Amino acid sequence: MYPESLMMSYGYKPELSEGAIKCPIFQTSTFVFKSAKEGKDFFELAYGKREKTPGEQPGLIYSRLNNPDLQILEERLSLWDGADECAVFESGMSAISTVLLEFLRPGDALLYSMPVYGGTDHFINKVLPQYGIKGVGFTSDDSEEEILRKVAGLSIKLIYVETPANPTNALFDLFLCRRVADRLSKEDAKVYVAVDNTYMGPLWQHPLKQGSDLVIYSATKYIGGHSDLIAGAVLGSTELMKRVRTLRTFLGNMAGPWTGWLLMRSLETLKVRMTQQASNAKEVADFLLAHPKVEKVYYLGHLKESDSQYTIYRRQLSSPGAMVSFDIKGGEQEAFAFLDSLKLFKLAVSLGGTESLAEHPATMTHSDVSEEDRDLLRISEKLIRLSIGVEHYEDLIWDIKQALDQV
Ligand SMILES: *Cc1c(COP(=O)(O)O)cnc(C)c1O
Repeated sequence: MYPESLMMSYGYKPELSEGAIKCPIFQTSTFVFKSAKEGKDFFELAYGKREKTPGEQPGLIYSRLNNPDLQILEERLSLWDGADECAVFESGMSAISTVLLEFLRPGDALLYSMPVYGGTDHFINKVLPQYGIKGVGFTSDDSEEEILRKVAGLSIKLIYVETPANPTNALFDLFLCRRVADRLSKEDAKVYVAVDNTYMGPLWQHPLKQGSDLVIYSATKYIGGHSDLIAGAVLGSTELMKRVRTLRTFLGNMAGPWTGWLLMRSLETLKVRMTQQASNAKEVADFLLAHPKVEKVYYLGHLKESDSQYTIYRRQLSSPGAMVSFDIKGGEQEAFAFLDSLKLFKLAVSLGGTESLAEHPATMTHSDVSEEDRDLLRISEKLIRLSIGVEHYEDLIWDIKQALDQV
């Protein structure tokens, strides 16, 4: 069956919860063992002291290790990406930082796509260097050979890719990243590819099927979808997820049961929400393209066959998504006048929620990115980022039109 058909029931057994049709919130820190022997068995398995016996399910011990709300959520999330396993975190940043800390060691280097989410950029360029780990960026214009030249002599252990990139929608070729990873891999040290799929997933892009090893989400965005929670997720093979899950257990940065429950509720409407958001985004992007006060629109649905990014778009994505950025004619003053005049759109960072949001990357989400990188990546003072929600598109266009009239 399709994932959307399974989001209401998969992994949940009503008979274990008094017949409740919905999974209750297991608001509990610890779980009672039936016997001391059972407690011993559960721990042996949880701490990897023995392999699972055929058909054995890991027992519930303590909510930092596992909780039914997280476990069922993780099983449901895995369906969209076709992953062996998933681990849910208390934020997208904790998912990202846990992956970076697990797969990098002092002396290693990280190859990463630019631009990345502002918090990720900070972690790579300000936190990891304190642990002796160097980040090397590449852009969507760099060829395979150019990327390899940049990292010559470095001990690359991980390639981290965010595609489409926030806030410009620049696309990175995941197959190219896989080839680079394979060329840099040594017999005893495989180079892994991790993809931040927050912008497109889990509906419109499936990096694990395109050769990547790990998929990461800020579940705060489309997966949560209602701007009412912070969470993250990592998905991949059993082998790699065992490492991610173990570090999560000891950093203690798993999501709590209440967040897990909210995310299960969100997943039931994921497909209808995202589909409506993408359809609204197309109307908004087309309107912006035709407006005289708009200089340039960054929307994947406008890529032409002659654009170098078009091939990647067709091969990697099944939708242009619901994020639209544009350059307004002028600079910060005009951008601010527009943002301050919006009535239905809310002026806020974040994205992927049911309500439409607008923000100014250069002074908000990406103000921490160096000026040099901002120039290189076209994150200028004219750039405005829109996250399109589920409202009626005619009201969204009305709002944008009246705000542009105020500029
Ligand atoms: C929001 C976001 C993050 C960080 O996630 P949090 O849930 O805020 O910690 C990471 N990557 C992308 C692309 C994001 O949009």
